[in-house]
Amino acid sequence: MDERSQRSGYSRSRLDRTANRRGDPAWIAQALRSARFLLFSGDRPLFRISDNPGPDPLFDAGTAQRFDAGMDRAVFLGLDGDTALFAAPVPGDETTFDAEGIKLIDVRSVAVQGLVAPALLGPVAQAKSLLDWHARHGYCARCGASTRMADAGYRRDCPSCGASHFPRTDPVVIMLPVDGADCLLARAPRFQPGMYSALAGFVEPGETLEDAVRREVKEETAVDVDRVTYHSSQPWPFPSSLMIGCFARAVSRDLDPDPREIADARWFSRTEIGEMLNHRHPDGLFAPPSMAIAHQLLKSYVAGETIF
Ligand SMILES: [Zn+2]
Repeated sequence: MDERSQRSGYSRSRLDRTANRRGDPAWIAQALRSARFLLFSGDRPLFRISDNPGPDPLFDAGTAQRFDAGMDRAVFLGLDGDTALFAAPVPGDETTFDAEGIKLIDVRSVAVQGLVAPALLGPVAQAKSLLDWHARHGYCARCGASTRMADAGYRRDCPSCGASHFPRTDPVVIMLPVDGADCLLARAPRFQPGMYSALAGFVEPGETLEDAVRREVKEETAVDVDRVTYHSSQPWPFPSSLMIGCFARAVSRDLDPDPREIADARWFSRTEIGEMLNHRHPDGLFAPPSMAIAHQLLKSYVAGETIF
């Protein structure tokens, strides 16, 4: 199946999430004994480094216990065939694991460098977002009491006021305004020199995706767009967003970039975009790497896929 969302990094998962088992503590306890683990030190997963078969982020239960993984904080990710996969935090840093031949590698590099099979990038993103949420939600947002993990990691309960809290996913629109054969890209001050990407911004409460696209393009560049169409989505575990990729039909061209967010904004021809995707632009300009949804939006545009 060539589903557009499957083309970006963090989007594919070989796991069956088996959500109907999360609320069964006996089943979860049994599954933990023979499980495999993604182990995180802070926001970085551990990798056993080897040339063959390559860096491996999956550890057995014995190793997880030897590394003092927080089993009471282990989050159930799903079943990989018959094997349960969990994510758990471990104490320590680089120096703790160096002697074991283990490195901590940030999740962005894992995707950009293709360090794991694409179908394992989804579980890595799932693990990072869930562990991050637990690390930051130890107290009830309603009454301030300590909360407890429940449902194998998909809920936190407050024993004081009875509130239940659920992991959040923040929707972000990322869009390519198109005017005939040109499209609009911009660069943020933090980007590598030469890189241009799609405009993006958080969806606000009470807003449709289409309205969010029109508002963000207007705020950031002063360009008006009317029609908005959906392209694909991508989990983005920094810490827990869902990127929603769209095309937007531009009805004006004059640019007045917001200097607080945009270092430069430009219209690019389809030919230039093709050169940027392949790192052959005469001025050295380039687009984000293929794991990024912005790259996939641009690739569809260059390939002439139907966008409106
Ligand atoms: Zn509470």
